Amino acid sequence: MLNVPSQSFPAPSSQQRVASGGRSKVPLKQGRSLMDWIRLTKSGKDLTGLKGRLIEVTEEELKKHNTKDDCWICIRGFVYNVTPYMEYHPGGEDELMRAAGSDGTDLFDQVHRWVNYESMLKECLVGRMAVKPALPKDYHEEKKVLNGMLPKSQVADTLAKEGCSSPSYDWFQTDSSVTIVIYTKQKDINLDSVIVDHQDDSFRAEILIKDYSYIIHVELSHEIEEDFSVRVVENVGKIEIVLKKKENASWKRLGHPLENHNSLIPRKDTGLYYRKCRLISKEGVTHDTKLFCLMLPPSTHLQVPVGQHVYLKLTITGTEIVKPYTPVSDSLLSEFKEPVLLNNKYIYFLIKIYPAGLFTPELDQLQIGDFVSVSNPEGSFKISQFQELEDLFLLAAGTGFTPMVKILNYALTNIPSLRKVKLMFFNKTEDDIIWRSQLEKLAFKDKRFDVEFVLSAPTSEWNGKWGHISPALLSEFLKRSSDKSKVLICICGPTPFTEQGIRLLRDRNFSKEEIHSFTA
Ligand code: FAD
Ligand code: NAP
Repeated sequence: MLNVPSQSFPAPSSQQRVASGGRSKVPLKQGRSLMDWIRLTKSGKDLTGLKGRLIEVTEEELKKHNTKDDCWICIRGFVYNVTPYMEYHPGGEDELMRAAGSDGTDLFDQVHRWVNYESMLKECLVGRMAVKPALPKDYHEEKKVLNGMLPKSQVADTLAKEGCSSPSYDWFQTDSSVTIVIYTKQKDINLDSVIVDHQDDSFRAEILIKDYSYIIHVELSHEIEEDFSVRVVENVGKIEIVLKKKENASWKRLGHPLENHNSLIPRKDTGLYYRKCRLISKEGVTHDTKLFCLMLPPSTHLQVPVGQHVYLKLTITGTEIVKPYTPVSDSLLSEFKEPVLLNNKYIYFLIKIYPAGLFTPELDQLQIGDFVSVSNPEGSFKISQFQELEDLFLLAAGTGFTPMVKILNYALTNIPSLRKVKLMFFNKTEDDIIWRSQLEKLAFKDKRFDVEFVLSAPTSEWNGKWGHISPALLSEFLKRSSDKSKVLICICGPTPFTEQGIRLLRDRNFSKEEIHSFTA
């Protein structure tokens, strides 16, 4: 079922010519797909040349392994012999060689921070760099003061430099509850900024503050009920997480600190945090696209902000594979409601199944009741981009429609200044158009909204627009409601489509601030 990709890949206009992160994908030789790599790692072959031994690697030693035939790379303190992986790397050998014999962590983070390299490369692990891991500065002090008001967080300086005070937390209890209070001292905190998980023994709250995460992470000293409530006092940035005690005992301490507890960390350094979500339903939308509904565990509070994506993780033949997907609303026609914790337990995805793909056929095989891991949200889109907005233009191709769903719903419901919303939706054929009748109904229902379909491979019966994104199509489409109207253009689709679109928009003198492109 997971076919070996053809040698003609990628076709000149294929979405796969450029990978999701915007970097170039190279054609891989026959028998060198990711699935082939996974098979090789399971074959029992000695891929490091060290017969399973793990060694401490000095910097001098690492530097020696810097050729295509002998290439070691360090990522986050772990050293991998990536020589056998060269031919399987979707970004090509040259991209890997940029980090040969050195620390590739930054390069890795720039291109594919979300790829689960630990799992993909576990058979290539040579060992650790020979340096002692540094303990967090206040680690010991932290333990002593956990029960009660804590000192300033360890990385307070970082936010302070940006003119923000550092967050802190406190906790108090009644007979039946424990309330954790987090003082972010930020004004733009809302329920989307708070992610809470209680899994096994670990309680973890991550507060998203600008490009940082403030983390509370403890092994609770006593058991709690599954569900909890989260409240945000928005004007002062105070967050209250109310836990229900299982027993009425008095807690002497909140718990034992775990990794990154009471730390403010740049978001790019936090790593992706996952929870297992149950597949609730799966329903065909087009011949190859399905609407998946996942349910968050009761012990999770997570709301994916408009315009952001998450990563889904599945274990495929023993290897963890991660891919990004953009949650949508369950429909375009249901009124958009501000999410409320209790009825915000479902996440919907429109996902196209690629029969020869690595991830989507596995996802499609899942049965109702099976689990998929879902990460914290990521993405650069901000609701503030809608402020005072008058004209919203959406350019979507294929599943690039997914971020537009919540954007459309949100803008039409919450932005009083909005006069016009137009979607130009590019697809190959009529059969590929996702939610066509819903879009047409929405256009009928809301006079501010218009949709135009453009097909690249229409049948002779099609009498609508056809072709690829072009100056002619855009000049007609991008008519403002008034000369100086405040405008935002969102664009998403195969990377070459998005890049071409941005070029055309810039040629038409739209500023960078007026264009939002969606990428990984
Ligand atoms: P892949 O294994 O990536 O393959 C896709 C196709 O390319 C297959 O036909 C395969 O045969 C071919 N192929 C791949 N590599 C090669 C090769 N080296 N040689 C020959 N052929 C090859 N998708 C959605 O459907 N819905 C969403 O909401 C969504 N959101 C996204 C959000 C972001 C931020 C990004 C970046 C992407 C999003 N995507 C979304 C795309 C998604 O992440 C996956 O890329 C997509 O589902 C394909 O995954 P796959 O593993 O099944 O296919
Ligand atoms: P598709 O069906 O292959 O293509 C959709 C339309 O885009 C088709 O009309 C296609 O024309 C056109 N197109 C393709 N390449 C083009 C190019 N170079 N220039 C102009 N038009 C082009 O699309 P898909 O399979 O659904 O793929 C959707 C893509 O969107 C994926 O790459 C996915 O990763 C991306 N996506 C990104 C995000 C995000 O970043 N947030 C979210 C969702 C999806 P042809 O018939 O000529 O191919």
